[in-house]
Amino acid sequence: MPSTAVGRAYQQCVACVMDTTDPTISFDDNGVCNHCRNFRTSIAPNWHTDAKGDEQLMSLADQIRKAGRGKEFDCIIGLSGGLDSSFATYVAIERMGLRPLLFHCDAGWNTDQAVGNIERLIDGLNLELYTEVVDWGEMKDLQVAFLRSQIPDQDLVQDAAFFSSLYLFARRHGVKYVLTGSNYSTECCREPDEWGGYTGVDKTLFKDIHAQYGTRPLDTFPLVDILRYKVLYQTVLGMRIVRPLNLVPYIKEDAEEELQSRFGWQRFQHKHHESRFTRFYEDFWLPRKFGFDKRKAHFSSLIMTSQLTREDALSRLTHTEMDEQFLQQEFEYVASKLDLTVDELRAIFEGENKTYRDYKNKRWLIGIGAQVLRNLGVERRLIQ
Ligand SMILES: [Zn+2]
Repeated sequence: MPSTAVGRAYQQCVACVMDTTDPTISFDDNGVCNHCRNFRTSIAPNWHTDAKGDEQLMSLADQIRKAGRGKEFDCIIGLSGGLDSSFATYVAIERMGLRPLLFHCDAGWNTDQAVGNIERLIDGLNLELYTEVVDWGEMKDLQVAFLRSQIPDQDLVQDAAFFSSLYLFARRHGVKYVLTGSNYSTECCREPDEWGGYTGVDKTLFKDIHAQYGTRPLDTFPLVDILRYKVLYQTVLGMRIVRPLNLVPYIKEDAEEELQSRFGWQRFQHKHHESRFTRFYEDFWLPRKFGFDKRKAHFSSLIMTSQLTREDALSRLTHTEMDEQFLQQEFEYVASKLDLTVDELRAIFEGENKTYRDYKNKRWLIGIGAQVLRNLGVERRLIQ
């Protein structure tokens, strides 16, 4: 089980809790990591949640309302029931005065708490929700194929369904602005790609894994390839991503409390616990099979933004979020939900680990594409 890059001594940042399980981490002479440095030099100076941020938020709101005049909705929000997307919805309505189309993709793994939160928010704000349900037979087949592929990126299937169905829906309804809950406050420390965070939907990778391990055709499963999305959706169709949570004070505990007192929204024990699969994957599968604990990045984000002490983070990291008995029950639940026996799932769990490099992929092209678009973006700003 890999815990550090080959030949590298274990080291943990003295300021946050990131460590050498991130194979690309680097440290300065004082033992401070590149994530902390990046926060200090690139994020903090450009992150304004004061009057300046408010001004930007209001001007953005104006722009979105204008573009949506005469239309039923002026933007779309993908709602998971988790804190970030819930609070983004709240900000869009209460502070920006927008008329969002609320979209939820049900990929079969919602926790009751997530469903309850969505219902309370929708009722409390008097909104309508559009829910798209992914064909469970196809979802299951693709998830089992990914598990059999032995790569760490086991949340790609759910992510692809959420992302793709949202963009297909937005396109079908001519919605230009996509509001997301992504934010610096709880996500400024980026999880390294190696921790199962493959960048975007790569249809080449999906097709190869499914060709090798899938058992049935995927007729309806929504898959929008990242390059198609970047070129067609963002560049040609001019779809815009808006991150309102970076323009308002967004303190995790305050936001939870505000949603709770306003709508009866219930806080989760940890980030991403709105999905039963993600909770199992991040609390059990990824740390025990691959040695990666995503909470190190989640906690480090909260440490960098002064919402958690390093000491408290270290103490939380000594144990899993859910207790052992619960995790064993979840192992059985996940197996049975995917039509695997517990022994079959255990055999996969104990199988040899691989990475996306063992399959056809176009990671290199996605890298080049990202660079080209960045350059184009710079050029466009200069021309304007
Ligand atoms: Zn650090």
